[in-house]
Amino acid sequence: MGKKVKMRCTYCGRTFFKGQGVEVVIGDEKFYFHSKKCALRFLQMLLERIPPEVSVPAAKALARELQEAIKKKEEMSKKKFA
Ligand SMILES: [Zn+2]
Repeated sequence: MGKKVKMRCTYCGRTFFKGQGVEVVIGDEKFYFHSKKCALRFLQMLLERIPPEVSVPAAKALARELQEAIKKKEEMSKKKFA
């Protein structure tokens, strides 16, 4: 039986047990949040600190990749039901 490890939310400071919250891994670092909302707020604040010339092209490339994946999925299901 593993002992329950108490964690503290990086964003709001609320305590929670490890495994119940959200873990965000950036490089070699791990950050823990008690909820998805806190994790999202942290990531949004982090994004604001990254220069737009870095974050905007990366965001656009990611959106494009996801869009292509969605298109592929839609084409696959079209084939299935045609
Ligand atoms: Zn929190």
